Amino acid sequence: MTEPILDVRGVTKSFGALVASNDINIDLKPGEIHALIGPNGAGKSTLIGQIAGGLPPDAGSVHFDGKDVTSLSTAARARAGMGRTFQISSLAMEYTVLQNVVLGALGHRGDVFRFFRPVMKDKDLLARADHALEQVGLEEFRGFRTSELSHGQRRQLEVAVALTLEPKAFLMDEPMAGLGAEGTHRLMGFLGGLKEQAPILLVEHDMDAVFALADRISVLVYGEIIATGSVDEIRANPDVRVAYLGEEEEA
Ligand code: ADP
Ligand code: MG
Repeated sequence: MTEPILDVRGVTKSFGALVASNDINIDLKPGEIHALIGPNGAGKSTLIGQIAGGLPPDAGSVHFDGKDVTSLSTAARARAGMGRTFQISSLAMEYTVLQNVVLGALGHRGDVFRFFRPVMKDKDLLARADHALEQVGLEEFRGFRTSELSHGQRRQLEVAVALTLEPKAFLMDEPMAGLGAEGTHRLMGFLGGLKEQAPILLVEHDMDAVFALADRISVLVYGEIIATGSVDEIRANPDVRVAYLGEEEEA
């Protein structure tokens, strides 16, 4: 059996009386897209926050690449190989595409931004940024202002930012949000190739995308994972149909 790169064990988090994560177990194996789905407010972003760091769990542990990273900072987890993209874009729209990749690489490295200008002459960093842009197919846009990119291209740019750290796995929170049908389609194709390089824990609202892309799916409802399985297993699971897909009974 392949060892998971990411292993979340018994993670629990409450906000006052609300249990946003209730004894969550989920893992991510090499080469796969594991989709995490669930209604709004189910606790998906909260779980990603605990995996990526920044939101300490009340109980449970997060293991990454064979190490317990539960007490590590977000930056330390990023350095350990956790690549992350966000539900809300973290790009600087007035900067160029290339500058965003460099900025992101610096941010992940934990460096301060006031050295930004000299850093744009750092050959090693620039080479890494250019390579990341090539990997996501945005090399022709390196000099464009980020605001000139389409939503889909911005999502790809976020992945390029994450790629500068050569991540061993990706955490993505709703990367298709705000994309039209064509953008979604293109990003899906891109993610389908990316998973071979680094597996993806994918929080996604778009069910068609999830069913088309995921190797495994976990369903989160009110802070609890009610099912994990293949696409077919999740489609056929009666608890999932009632709790999430909104079906009372088989039509
Ligand atoms: P999802 O991403 O699945 O839509 P979230 O993880 O954002 O869900 O939120 C899960 C629940 O936790 C929601 O009820 C939300 O209001 C609540 N919540 C999230 N973050 C906080 C916080 N920092 N303080 C209090 N409640 C929070
Ligand atoms: Mg969310």
